[in-house]
Amino acid sequence: MNSNEIDIHKELKKYFGFSQFKGLQEQVIKSILNKQNTFVIMPTGGGKSLCYQLPALIQEGTAIVVSPLIALMKNQVDAIRSLSSENGIAHVLNSSLTKTEIAQVKKDISSGLTKLLYVAPESLIKEENVLFLKSVTVSFVAIDEAHCISEWGHDFRPEYRNLKHIIKQLGDDVPIIGLTATATPKVQEDILKNLDMSDATTFKASFNRPNLYYEVRTKTKNIEADIIRFIRQHKGKSGIIYCLSRKKVEAIAEVLQVNGISAVPYHAGLDAKTRAKHQDMFLMEDVDVVVATIAFGMGIDKPDVRFVIHHDIPKSLESYYQETGRAGRDGGEGHCLAYYSYKDVEKLEKFMSGKPVAEQEIGFALLQEVVAYAETSMSRRKFLLHYFGEEFDSETGEGADMDDNIRNPKTKIEAKDQVVKLLEIVRDTKHLYKSKEIVFTLIGRVNAVIKAHRTDSQSFFGSGADHDEKYWMALLRQVLVAGYLSKDIETYGIVKITKAGLDFIKKPVSFMMSEDHEYNESEDEAIVT
Ligand code: ADP
Repeated sequence: MNSNEIDIHKELKKYFGFSQFKGLQEQVIKSILNKQNTFVIMPTGGGKSLCYQLPALIQEGTAIVVSPLIALMKNQVDAIRSLSSENGIAHVLNSSLTKTEIAQVKKDISSGLTKLLYVAPESLIKEENVLFLKSVTVSFVAIDEAHCISEWGHDFRPEYRNLKHIIKQLGDDVPIIGLTATATPKVQEDILKNLDMSDATTFKASFNRPNLYYEVRTKTKNIEADIIRFIRQHKGKSGIIYCLSRKKVEAIAEVLQVNGISAVPYHAGLDAKTRAKHQDMFLMEDVDVVVATIAFGMGIDKPDVRFVIHHDIPKSLESYYQETGRAGRDGGEGHCLAYYSYKDVEKLEKFMSGKPVAEQEIGFALLQEVVAYAETSMSRRKFLLHYFGEEFDSETGEGADMDDNIRNPKTKIEAKDQVVKLLEIVRDTKHLYKSKEIVFTLIGRVNAVIKAHRTDSQSFFGSGADHDEKYWMALLRQVLVAGYLSKDIETYGIVKITKAGLDFIKKPVSFMMSEDHEYNESEDEAIVT
């Protein structure tokens, strides 16, 4: 069947009741109907599901949809079934089905009734399922959440690596459709390579969300008061606060409650009933704020979330983008506020240090990008979009003024001489130290490690005492981001000088350091802690 022979607009209306395609949907559907391998990169809410559902419904045979999320699969199947009088039009195939149910699924597929079959990767790779699917007509295979195939994505699933091999067995001409909402250039390359679809036509929608305002604040001990102040300024509006630990979720929810803010906690440690209750309370607007771990949000489609606060920095910019993406879905205001402290970064690094080296290396690199984002003085939108392989004009692009760095530019100061001083100290202490000892050496403060190495008797000890600890820490991090220094992964955090750093010492150039944002704390509000 060729895309030209079918009136896909008519089919869209007939099955989904929509009169127009959204974004790139029409082109994607045509590509699929033309039996081409197709790669779809669209942000969450972009309308990816319809891209494979419509062609599946109007083609001969069954489309296989691989998805890692069993709960979401079930929702999708229910949604498809509601479009038709036949339950058999869509099925899930997984290990929880009884023998009788499996027989029914197979019967519906063989008779041509089933248009969409949702499977988890671990079910698809089972030999008995492969054998069965080889004997029926498969229209195409859609791989949802395709970034799960890449170790560089934020949700690597090793089972995804076997998919290519299985799909090949289903026939040479079965097209593959990869879909994802998060794909840096590195992840995109991995997806195309691992699915063996370098010939795929790629459709990439813009990731820009012009109505979202991005802001990063320095995390201080007054963070709770600051969050309360922020929420009071957004009185009655819906928001999500993400924390890394369950303990913190509970603590913040409680502080908000005592301060008269209607908030509930949400994390995987709560029983299913409480979780469902809290989620519903948020959706029904019985509470304004959900304080949650990343367990909250998958499949949540509340259009008027007005703010997303990150109490702790996320592990990657992919996660950050996805979590902040839950704000302002209706196109209205969406304030994305992240609190940043380098101590949190070190905590995450320490946590990762127990993992296998390859995983550590990737986790470390992803985290460095978050640090760079938090510390950047450039347009945050430009930075984020660049990360996703998209160019953005920070002067004329849509939403260009929607971030703190643009509205309230950081002061920049020339730090060429200090960079040289810092680099020399890293070089001359011979790669013994982590950030803390390097800064201590600069300001002339002794601790046990420094004593042990007798660095305090060196001539350069205290040579940077004209600036304080905070200054040197900030500079060191910015110099790391600039690539003149690097952190050793295996030794967890030993700072080394790079080739570029050695060149800098020989031939210093201008280095504009940005000062940390300071924000004003008013003391007149009553905060109960
Ligand atoms: P994604 O999977 O990319 O996150 P979904 O497939 O869940 O996005 O679609 C997001 C929303 O957009 C859904 O509510 C869906 O019904 C709606 N939608 C999809 N296509 C269209 C269309 N052509 N016209 C109007 N609404 C659409």
